[in-house]
Amino acid sequence: MEYLFKSWDRVEKKIGRNNLFIFLDFDGTLAPIALTPKKAVLPKEVKQLLERMSENPRVRLAFISGRRLEDLKSKVGIKNAIYSGNHGLELSGPKIKFKPALPVRYQMIIGRIKRELDRKTFCIRGVLVEDKGLTLSLHYRLVKSRDIAGLKKIFQETAAPYLVNSKIKVQPGKRVIEVRPPVEWDKGRVVLWLLEKNFFASKNAGVMPIYIGDDVIDEDAFRVIKNKGLAIFVGKPKKSYARYYLKDHNEVRNFLERILVRYHGRISEGKRAV
Ligand SMILES: [Mg+2]
Repeated sequence: MEYLFKSWDRVEKKIGRNNLFIFLDFDGTLAPIALTPKKAVLPKEVKQLLERMSENPRVRLAFISGRRLEDLKSKVGIKNAIYSGNHGLELSGPKIKFKPALPVRYQMIIGRIKRELDRKTFCIRGVLVEDKGLTLSLHYRLVKSRDIAGLKKIFQETAAPYLVNSKIKVQPGKRVIEVRPPVEWDKGRVVLWLLEKNFFASKNAGVMPIYIGDDVIDEDAFRVIKNKGLAIFVGKPKKSYARYYLKDHNEVRNFLERILVRYHGRISEGKRAV
């Protein structure tokens, strides 16, 4: 992996005069990871940056997260943008109509797993079972480390009967395990689906996709982006489909500032893009 700011000259050349389609994960990428999903906040300066970017006809923003669509929209709060919740299963934005086909009994199964997990994990402190409509998240960031193995065992036992006949899929993330529908659809496919639509007024320039994310689940998107544009991982460099990395959400903000300066001119006096 290359540190993006170290390769900045090359990256700038690559960006050139293209229109930019910027895909952004939320938690851990734009907003610092919080103790509970509710507590996560988009920093004010980042929101201002994104707002200004969203006004540029040569930049398109798409927010892609594991959160529920409505939850993600209210956390980000930018008007002129595309939003995708539940890791791509929900999608909304200008000129977008989208509904994934889910197995008939899937939603009922999710409800059943939720009730069972609520009951079985009742005694473990810090567990959060989040019903996100199309998916279910078992958060354990606040669970004591000595309880985690037991919690995972409970989860495996609960999920096993549905996993055997592929009624659900299971996906681990950062201090979270998720139950998802058994469909071939992920962040990568959403990115491709969106790239096929033409959202740009000016047809003269090419479109350069940029995807920034911090979790294993973002790898699906890195994989489809890596040869087309910039795949940027947020965190300590590791084995990944992403070619570049940034250290944390502060550096993501810095990257967005640099892009804004390129596409908009100087941001404002005294607020230097480092
Ligand atoms: Mg994330």
